[in-house]
Amino acid sequence: MSINAQNITVTYGKKTALDNFSFEFTEEKIYAVLGPNGCGKSTLVKALVNKYANGNIAYVAQETLGVINLTVQEYIELGRYNPGKFFGGLSEEDKNKVMQAIDVMELAGLENRLFDTLSGGEKQRVMAARALAQDALWTILDEPSASLDVKHTSLIMNTVRQLCDQDKKSFIIVLHDINDAARYADEFILMKDGKLVKSTNKLDVEDLNSIYDTNFEKITSKDGRELFYAT
Ligand code: ADP
Ligand code: MG
Repeated sequence: MSINAQNITVTYGKKTALDNFSFEFTEEKIYAVLGPNGCGKSTLVKALVNKYANGNIAYVAQETLGVINLTVQEYIELGRYNPGKFFGGLSEEDKNKVMQAIDVMELAGLENRLFDTLSGGEKQRVMAARALAQDALWTILDEPSASLDVKHTSLIMNTVRQLCDQDKKSFIIVLHDINDAARYADEFILMKDGKLVKSTNKLDVEDLNSIYDTNFEKITSKDGRELFYAT
């Protein structure tokens, strides 16, 4: 199932946050959405979730709002609930998916902690675990590594890469770190001022300069990876 977004416009009052966005996201890829603050990345992924959800998209928002008042275990179990079996309780398969997600996101030991008492980085791992437990065809993550250290960023991104390569899952991930995007994603959705500027499978300095309004340089690491930094 591809996600075929056509002519999506979102306005807040007079502000056009997303301006006639069209793009077909095809399966079994990791898409990185890149662009400066306020360019409409979160608006885009929320619109995709609202329009194309029908149970096939797991979504982790950029921020959690309000009080959650659930334990880590309960919060991750929410990933297994769907309207069709609301009061049915968790099956063996549900419990396994939850256990695997806890394991993969290295949350063992935190199961009984209240979500609200966790650090920002721990919350992000728990939210990622809930999405993984959902085991959806598509997973959309909005800046999943914003408060994560290097090790846990790699943990999430390597997990995503593996789920894509081995389990044929598809991902759309908003990333603020260009080098994480360059390292893990297959395709880059470059945005500016609410518009899709370009989709490409290779980042280059010119495109980055134009969307971020800054000057990038590219260096190649010893193992042949291209790294971009703003000068
Ligand atoms: P990004 O995720 O790329 O940082 P957003 O999609 O969150 O950007 O926001 C795009 C634009 O829409 C910004 O100018 C932001 O201030 C505005 N915006 C987002 N949400 C709202 C809202 N609820 N009300 C008014 N303006 C909003
Ligand atoms: Mg955002």
